[in-house]
Amino acid sequence: MSIKDKQFDAIVIGSGGGGAAAAWGLAYKGLSVLLLEAGQRFDPYQDYRLSTAQWEQSAFPEKSKSKSFYRIAELQKLTRQWGSLRSWNHISGPMIKDDRRLGWKYSHVRGLGGSTLHFTGEAHRLNKAAMQMHSRFGVAADWPLQYQDLEIWYQLAELIVGVSGSDVDPHRPRKRPHPLPPHSASFASQTVQQGLEKLGLSWTPNSLAVLPKAYDGRPGCNYCNNCNRGCPRKDKGSADVTFLHKAEKTERCDIQTGKTVLNIESDANKITAVVYADEQGNRYRSSAKTVIVACGAVQTPRLLLLSNTVQQEGLANESGLVGKNFMETLFWVSSGLHPHSIGSQRGLPSDSICWDYNSPDAIKNIIGGCRFTLATAEADLLGPINYAQRVVKGFGRQHKADMRKQYGNVLSVGSIGECLPHTDSYIGLDPDHLDEHGLPLAKIHSRLDTLALNRMRFMADKCREILQASGVTQLIEEYGSYDTFNSTHVFGTCRMGADPQQSVVNANCQSHRWKNLFIVDASVFPSSGGGESPSLTIQALAIRSAFFIAEQMKRKQL
Ligand SMILES: Cc1cc2nc3c(=O)[nH]c(=O)nc-3n(C[C@H](O)[C@H](O)[C@H](O)COP(=O)(O)OP(=O)(O)OC[C@H]3O[C@@H](n4cnc5c(N)ncnc54)[C@H](O)[C@@H]3O)c2cc1C
Ligand code: SF4
Repeated sequence: MSIKDKQFDAIVIGSGGGGAAAAWGLAYKGLSVLLLEAGQRFDPYQDYRLSTAQWEQSAFPEKSKSKSFYRIAELQKLTRQWGSLRSWNHISGPMIKDDRRLGWKYSHVRGLGGSTLHFTGEAHRLNKAAMQMHSRFGVAADWPLQYQDLEIWYQLAELIVGVSGSDVDPHRPRKRPHPLPPHSASFASQTVQQGLEKLGLSWTPNSLAVLPKAYDGRPGCNYCNNCNRGCPRKDKGSADVTFLHKAEKTERCDIQTGKTVLNIESDANKITAVVYADEQGNRYRSSAKTVIVACGAVQTPRLLLLSNTVQQEGLANESGLVGKNFMETLFWVSSGLHPHSIGSQRGLPSDSICWDYNSPDAIKNIIGGCRFTLATAEADLLGPINYAQRVVKGFGRQHKADMRKQYGNVLSVGSIGECLPHTDSYIGLDPDHLDEHGLPLAKIHSRLDTLALNRMRFMADKCREILQASGVTQLIEEYGSYDTFNSTHVFGTCRMGADPQQSVVNANCQSHRWKNLFIVDASVFPSSGGGESPSLTIQALAIRSAFFIAEQMKRKQL
C-alpha cells in the first residue's frame, strides 16, 4: 500500500524540536504516525566532518532543499541614540555600513531534526516567573499553564535527550535531578568565572543536551566546541538522534523526508487531509484522525495562512492571531583579547551560565530578563582563518608571530534577552515572492521597540563589564541584533491561551476551533522568557500534547 492510501492516526508536519518530540510521544503511546519533513536526513558521521582542512570555512552543511526561503520586510532606521549597539570589528570597522537594520540572518536548517541539528544544545527550563508576564507586568500574555504543570514533561524530555546540568536553581525547582551530572568548566569559562566573582555575580553549570559521559547508546562529548556545525559524535541531543531514533524503533512512525506540506484541508467540522509535494513536484494527499503542525514559528503561520477554509482566511485563524505576536532573538556578543593564553578554542560553547538577570524584574527599571554565557564558539572565533581575518592585524612575519602569540586568547561573552510582542512584529505572506510550488513565501516583519533596545543596552554594557573584570584588555569585536535581524530563537505566532479570542491554541496545543488540529512548536509561546533557550520547553509541551491526543483517541473523543 502506498503512503497516500494508508490511514494514519496522526500526521506530524515538521520534524524539528517540537515535531520530533510529538512523533515520538504518539508512536510510544501506540498510535500510527506519518511524519512529513521538507528537508533531508543528515548522517552525523558523514556530513559533519570536522577533520577536513576546510572545517573552519564550512558552516553547517547544505543538502538539497535544506535552506528555508522567506522574505524580510524593510527594517527600522538606525539612530545615533543607540550608536553603542552598532556591530563592529577592530580590523574591518562597522559591520553594517547602511543606516537601516539589515535582515541577513534567519538560518534555520530544513532537515530531519530541524533546527536542533545546528543548535548549541542548551536545554533550559523556563524561569517560572516568566510565564505570567501579562498579569504581573502588563506585557505579552500569560501562559495558560504553570511551571509545575510542565515539570513532569520537562523531566521526560530531559531523560530522552540526555540533559546534564546543575540541580540548584530557585527559579526552576526540580523534583528530580538532571539525568546527567554537569560538565566541567573549560579554562576560558573559569577565567570568566573569576571576573563574575569580582562583580558579585554567579556562574553555574549550564543545562545542556550534551553528554558528559556515555548515555543511551551515545558516547560522551570530546569538547571540540563545534556544535553549531553539527555534532559528529551524536552526543549532542539533536532531535534526530534522540526522539526520532526512538520513534523509528517503535516501527509505528513512518518518516518521509523531502516532503513539503503545501496545504491542510478541512470540512465544516474537522481537518480532513494534508497535501504535500516531493522534490520532483509530485503531489500527494494523506489523511489521519489528527494533524500536528510543527514547522517552526515562521513556517507554521505561513502554512496555516496558506490553508484557507470556506469561512476563514487562514486555518485556525478565528482570533486573527495566526502570524501575530512574533518574537525574535534579542542578543549581544562582545569579544576581546586576554593577555594570557586561555585556549578558548576548546571546550563546550556555553558550559556555564549567569542567570542573575534572568527573572522578568531582575534588571532595574526594565521589564524582561536576560542571561550571559561564554560565546567564543557562537562568534566563531575558534580557528586560525577567523583569527587572521578578525583578531590579529597586519601581515607578513609580524602577523605570523602575533598569530602564534594571540591564538586561543579571545574571550567572548554573549547575552540573550527577553523579546516582548507588539503589533509591528509579525509573520505575513508575500504574494510578490513565490516558492517553487507557486505559493507566497513567509514575510517577516520586525521592529525593536524602546524597551527591547534598553534591555539590549543593558546586555551590551554588562558583557563589556564582565570581559573587563575577567582580564580582557582590548575589545576587538561586538555584534548584536540592533543592526542585524537575528532569529535563532523565534516564538509567539500561534499563541496559546485560555481565551479563544486572544489565542490560537489552548493549553494542550489544540486549536480552539479545530479539535483535531494541534500546533507543537515555538509558535505557541505567549512570551519568550528571559533568554532561556526554547527547545526543552517546546519538547515538554509537545510530549504533553501527544499524550493528550493518545488519551483522547482512547476515549474516542478524537
Ligand atoms: C544556530 C542555532 C543555535 C541554537 N541553539 C539553541 C540551543 O542551544 N538551545 C535551544 O533550546 N534552542 C536553540 N536554538 C533554537 C532551536 O533550535 C529552535 O528553537 C527549535 O529547534 C525550534 O523547534 P521547532 O519545532 O519550533 O522548529 P524547527 O526545529 O525549526 O523545525 C521545523 C521543521 O519543520 C520543517 N518544515 C517547515 N516547513 C515545512 C513544510 N511546509 N512541510 C514539511 N516540513 C516543514 C523544517 O524543515 C524543520 O525541520 C538554536 C537555533 C539555531 C538556528
Ligand atoms: S563539543 Fe561535544 S556536543 Fe559539541 S560537537 Fe563537539 S563532540 Fe559534539
